[in-house]
Amino acid sequence: MARPVIAIVGRPNVGKSTIFNRIIGDRLAIVEDKPGVTRDRIYGSGEWSGKTFSIIDTGGIEIDGEDEIMKSVRMQAELAIEEADVIIFMVDAKSGLTNADDEVAQMLYRSRKPVVVAVNKVDNIGRMDDIYEFYSLGFGQPIAISGSHGTGIGDLLDAVIEKLPEMKEDEYDEDVIRVALIGRPNVGKSSLVNALLGEERVIVSDVAGTTRDAIDTPFERDGQRYVLIDTAGMRKRGKVYETTEKYSVMRAMKAIERADVVLILINGEEGIIEQDKHIAGYAHEAGKASVFVVNKWDVVEKDDKTMQNFVQSIRDNFQFMTYAPIVFLSAKTKSRLHKLLPVVNHVSEQHAMRIQTHLLNDVVADAVAMNQPPYDKGKRLRINYVTQVAVRPPTIVILSMIRN
Ligand code: GDP
Ligand code: GDP
Repeated sequence: MARPVIAIVGRPNVGKSTIFNRIIGDRLAIVEDKPGVTRDRIYGSGEWSGKTFSIIDTGGIEIDGEDEIMKSVRMQAELAIEEADVIIFMVDAKSGLTNADDEVAQMLYRSRKPVVVAVNKVDNIGRMDDIYEFYSLGFGQPIAISGSHGTGIGDLLDAVIEKLPEMKEDEYDEDVIRVALIGRPNVGKSSLVNALLGEERVIVSDVAGTTRDAIDTPFERDGQRYVLIDTAGMRKRGKVYETTEKYSVMRAMKAIERADVVLILINGEEGIIEQDKHIAGYAHEAGKASVFVVNKWDVVEKDDKTMQNFVQSIRDNFQFMTYAPIVFLSAKTKSRLHKLLPVVNHVSEQHAMRIQTHLLNDVVADAVAMNQPPYDKGKRLRINYVTQVAVRPPTIVILSMIRN
């Protein structure tokens, strides 16, 4: 199911990143330990009152060559309006209401998106009066919070959750494989979509996905049905923020969440850059089946070692994703294109695999026999029982106890 998206907008320095980090909380610490995952993140997930959501800090989005505050705040608001289900509009109690706040309020108001006003830096209860002027923004009761002290954040999330729309299940059947194509701009995502569809000679009409803005493209091959997730996101062009890394990561993130299989496109001509690692890191974190697709293989000068070297480079750069197979192809000439879908089918099957409990327990018992768990304070860890609790990805729980 697609998770609802919450965006935080507001002027620089009102405390957006502070609150963003508080809301995503512990998760940040956990994911940051993983290699290949960007530290400079603007997109995270949170949970409150049993609801999970994605949250965007639009303040992290810098507009290239754009240092004028108002322009970038306006851009953030536009982005939030486009992407979010509920917008947290953050203002600053210490500086009071500003013209920039008013202008953002106008934009948000016209969008008719649900908005919650958060008045930050209300560091002591005695200053509660400071929030009244923010009623004039026209979004109902402002919520007083303090990023420094962590107060009011529960109230803020209560107000946000109340405004979240009901998210519908994706209406695709179980046996449809949902495929997302991700990768930095110009790597060939649209070309690969066209190549896949062209090869099928199937005239498809776009169907609107359940997530607002998402256009999904279904097709069928050898009796297997697929749907390409968010092909609209790939086609959208020309907006200033399209070219910023953070924007493309954010767009990719939303497609990843709805996919079963993620195709991570790499430009075979240019090789791997840091941005590829960030993007792949998101697919990894989301626990999706992934395939590396090295595109533009037609223009690469090759000898008998070229492919092997490229494989090595992928394995070195993405050490956290050794499980993802690699396919080399050209979306343009369609050479080796036929290799792709069988790999997609394979990883999708693996991703949905169920392993019998007795088999799991046998494997773990063998592993323990070969390599005893460590002692801790003179006590040995004992593994009692192993069982698979979920598929996509296969999720295994190990029950253990410390034995004297
Ligand atoms: P952003 O630019 O909107 O993302 O703002 P930041 O989160 O980077 O915060 C800007 C500054 O305000 C930093 O120096 C924060 O430490 C400070 N700040 C954030 N929240 C509070 C708060 O609740 N009270 C006070 N006094 N300062 C805060
Ligand atoms: P996107 O931004 O990832 O959707 O990339 P596009 O599909 O728009 O492709 C960007 C550019 O790369 C276009 O000029 C394509 O013609 C070119 N391109 C895409 N795939 C290939 C390929 O396999 N080989 C070559 N030589 N060029 C390609």
